[in-house]
Amino acid sequence: MVIKYKSTRGNEEIKSSAEAILKGIAKDKGLFVPIAFPTIDKKLNDLTQMDYKEVAFYVLEKFLRDFSEADLRDAIENAYDEKFEAKEIAPIVKTKDAYFLELYHGKTLAFKDMALSILPHLLTKAAKKLGEDKKIVILAATSGDTGKAALEGFSDVDQTEIIVFYPDHGVSEVQKRQMITQEGKNTHVVAIKGNFDDAQSGVKKIFNDDDFNEQMNEKGYVFSSANSINIGRLVPQVVYYVYTYIELLKRGEITSGEKINFVVPTGNFGNILAGYYAKKMGLPIGKLICASNKNNVLYDFLNTGVYNINREFFMTNSPSMDILISSNLERLLYELSDQDENLVKNMMNQLEGESKQYTITPKMKERLKGFYGGFTTEEETIETIKKVYTESEYVLDTHTAVAYKVYEEYKKETKDETKTVIVSTASPYKFTKSVIKGIKESIEEKNEFKLIEMLSENTGIIIPEPIKDLDQKPVLHDMKCEKDRMKDIVKGILDI
Ligand SMILES: *Cc1c(COP(=O)(O)O)cnc(C)c1O
Repeated sequence: MVIKYKSTRGNEEIKSSAEAILKGIAKDKGLFVPIAFPTIDKKLNDLTQMDYKEVAFYVLEKFLRDFSEADLRDAIENAYDEKFEAKEIAPIVKTKDAYFLELYHGKTLAFKDMALSILPHLLTKAAKKLGEDKKIVILAATSGDTGKAALEGFSDVDQTEIIVFYPDHGVSEVQKRQMITQEGKNTHVVAIKGNFDDAQSGVKKIFNDDDFNEQMNEKGYVFSSANSINIGRLVPQVVYYVYTYIELLKRGEITSGEKINFVVPTGNFGNILAGYYAKKMGLPIGKLICASNKNNVLYDFLNTGVYNINREFFMTNSPSMDILISSNLERLLYELSDQDENLVKNMMNQLEGESKQYTITPKMKERLKGFYGGFTTEEETIETIKKVYTESEYVLDTHTAVAYKVYEEYKKETKDETKTVIVSTASPYKFTKSVIKGIKESIEEKNEFKLIEMLSENTGIIIPEPIKDLDQKPVLHDMKCEKDRMKDIVKGILDI
């Protein structure tokens, strides 16, 4: 079966996976979704010989069948190589009461590397296959981690130009330094005076600006996306859910068919949606536990069926989750409504319109039962880092701590003893300033890079290669703009 893709909002022709990846977003503003889901067609026990790359091939080949086997294998080989500091790619660590799936051993120290180390390969191969000879301009909005991972992935890739927009005051010091020191002739980094939602809305607006797109085409450019609105980001994320299951099976931690839960620290709903897609493929997943920070719009949604962005936006110590408009929820609504495009379109219009909210149907609400929502305050996040470090000598970053805290509450509330995997999305070194508060009683030091050394001295965890000497690197990007001037900035950069 060759899986084809269509728009969640119904007004776009059916596309091959290569076309969907190259386009990034549908022209009716919807997101590309698979028309049907492939299934895991082998016994799980028969998969336990596979390493990460083999699982990646097994999963990608099902979703991206219009790519040749050679292209997929080549993309996988080039993505999951020594760029990752852990040879397993995604190590799983067992503590007293949970498993931690560490997705942060790539070059930028966050889980975005899992998909963004392969996306540039998929995208350039798609362009070649489809005979696209224009220059591909990747526009990305970032809450801190996508930006760097996309820059790293696309840096000096032929036939591409990449422009990243980040909220000026909404990212950690390390995240910011990582981006503004990025090398590569085709990389551009812009701070916007606004938050992540502003950046993401601005980027979507550019994608949906027909006149501008036409003008771009005439000048020899096409836009594409590196955000998780691109289906080419989501499919590689399905891989680690399947990999985790068979790895736990291989280690004898679970038996074949036994259900496991995943707790996912969530922002744009991309990571957890990939878990849902894995479940749709037949992977035995019990609950998908959605963990939010103080921006708890998803928690409210999962509990009430109402998605309402009329609320205050908070900047927290887990900045990569400081998001109110979770784009990928649209893809979940599409599945919950039995692929009812009109319904999805309506709800999205309401969200984008004056009311800034929508309510799902009772039937859709009933189907949300596979999810559980929780959220954590900033103080609880730090307390959790402290607690886990004291009990297990295991160091969590702030996002992973949000997930772990929600897991504790979930267990208390439901008494569910199902084995559970905490999806660990960032290295503690990426958010040192907050993490160290949970590790050390009092700290006077303010310099983030001194704190990194301090964290290493205290915990004995080696400082990851990519952030060593980050403070010594020259700043190469200093552009800044108002949130409603993003289009002008793009024009300026491309000289049109
Ligand atoms: C992006 C990110 C998240 C949120 O992931 P989504 O796919 O947007 O839900 C969580 N933690 C970290 C560290 C991230 O970078």
